[in-house]
Amino acid sequence: LVERMRGFGTTVFAEMSLLAARTGALNLGQGFPDTDGPPEVLEEAQRAIRDGVNQYPPGTGHVVLREAVARHQQEWYGLTYDPATEVLITTGATEGVSAALLALCETGDEVVALDPTYDSYAAAATMARAVLRPVTLRPPDFALDLDALRAAITPRTRVLLVNSPHNPTGRVLTEAELAGIAALAVEHDLWVVCDEVYEHLTFDGHVHRPLAGFPGMRERTVLVSSAGKTFNVTGWKIGWVCAPPALVTAVNATKQFLTFSGGAPFQPAVALGLGLPRERFAEIRDRLQAGRDLLTEGLRRAGLEVFGAQGTYFVNVDIASIGETDGIAFCRGLPDRVGVVAVPTQVFHADPASAATLVRFAFCKRPEVLAEAAERLARL
Ligand code: PMP
Ligand code: GLN
Repeated sequence: LVERMRGFGTTVFAEMSLLAARTGALNLGQGFPDTDGPPEVLEEAQRAIRDGVNQYPPGTGHVVLREAVARHQQEWYGLTYDPATEVLITTGATEGVSAALLALCETGDEVVALDPTYDSYAAAATMARAVLRPVTLRPPDFALDLDALRAAITPRTRVLLVNSPHNPTGRVLTEAELAGIAALAVEHDLWVVCDEVYEHLTFDGHVHRPLAGFPGMRERTVLVSSAGKTFNVTGWKIGWVCAPPALVTAVNATKQFLTFSGGAPFQPAVALGLGLPRERFAEIRDRLQAGRDLLTEGLRRAGLEVFGAQGTYFVNVDIASIGETDGIAFCRGLPDRVGVVAVPTQVFHADPASAATLVRFAFCKRPEVLAEAAERLARL
């Protein structure tokens, strides 16, 4: 393995899911649902397979999906993208982010990212021979310090990499924070890559607003999202990029040599999903919010300090509140202690020591599983 990739080893998700499989513990580590998504979406994928949608899709994606993505951006956010030139279908948001960084960064360029970062970002930046510069969100509220963001920008900064709703913190950036990011991006003439995979999973009236909709942003923003979280199909890996034609062409230049294309029969199924009535999205969100409430309450009963999730699949706790000092040791021992798996979020931090006692639990699980997890955690 090349020297620059040696620090990455095995992802924490793989380690923790393996631990769950080996011990039979309830897996609240890796974020994936334990129920299927909308039946008509699943049925559409089966129909597509039966109807022979099984060969390479066009490199930029099936027309029906590109059109559905463009319609979705228009109807939900008032953003206009031309499906022919401004939408690119990717193998999940992971590929969208990687292809964007590979397309936009010269060697040594800096990518300013919200820290803790989703684990693929640092690896993608490194593969692009760029350097990640963290701007850390800290508990209890994980607010964005715009002065810290400004201070992180240097003459080498090429890209602002934003994620909201944010994994792992569960934070949804506010209108003021997004406006602040937009103003800095315009002032310093930066590209912005915005990962919005949890766009439909926000709670308590928190609303997702795409950065691309702020003044001066559409022309510099690569909007990245995917279907996995919204429709409980994390294994399908259907994502998309929306951006002006020159940016889409740039991202496609790298994307075409990562996978070229993929997921042929899933593309029409996701197209159908994106067109579902709003009530169905509300149902998905409400079910997830109920799961969040159940787990949050259980974690509190276990004596943990809980930082409420405004969106995503994840709720975070500080295990210092029960006298623990290291999240990695805690998570490695948790299956044997009480039969639950969680993820130490220090591994997502540029400075792990500053987040040694933060731990993330996924609530995208059936109510009975979350109730059982809460009962087990009460034994801590
Ligand atoms: N970005 C974030 C913030 C995520 O949490 C995830 C999934 N866990 C991804 C990207 C990956 O998305 P996909 O499966 O569509 O590649
Ligand atoms: N995004 C998922 C999470 O945060 C994990 C996806 C993966 O395993 N790469 O749990």
